[in-house]
Amino acid sequence: MSSSTIYARVQDSAKQAVDEYASRHGRTMSSAVQELLGLGLTAAADKKFLTPNADELELMRQKLREREIELQKEQSVRKELEREMNSLKKAADLWAERADISVANCSHCNAEITGSDLLILGRCSNCQKSTSTLFSQSKASDSNTLDLMLVLGAVGVLLGLLITSESSH
Ligand SMILES: [Zn+2]
Repeated sequence: MSSSTIYARVQDSAKQAVDEYASRHGRTMSSAVQELLGLGLTAAADKKFLTPNADELELMRQKLREREIELQKEQSVRKELEREMNSLKKAADLWAERADISVANCSHCNAEITGSDLLILGRCSNCQKSTSTLFSQSKASDSNTLDLMLVLGAVGVLLGLLITSESSH
């Protein structure tokens, strides 16, 4: 096998590494350099060894994009739920605020009927009569009553929204 000479200036660390390789494998300096060059050339020729192929890269990028989209969706769903919870909380606060306000007078004993008497108990807390007939003969046009009805409507709508959004997940 004919041979040629390569004159190459390399960094001290590279020279040191070749020396170590030569002594570890019982090679002369020349055969160590030749072996290492051969290995390096094979690796460089085999592109797969050095870089992932284009299809694999594209697949990885696509997976990354899909994951980002999923993440964005999750975040927007969470924001929407937080918004709904806030609205519900506001309605609940408003409801708590109005629950003790007198909305009518009992048609039987004339005691004041509060929002919670009307909507939670369903009867007069004084005489225990049902409140179901109250609005036909009392101050149904009273602004408190109308406010309460509006609040209740809002709570109902929000509960509907929450149930719908929970069942769609
Ligand atoms: Zn009563």
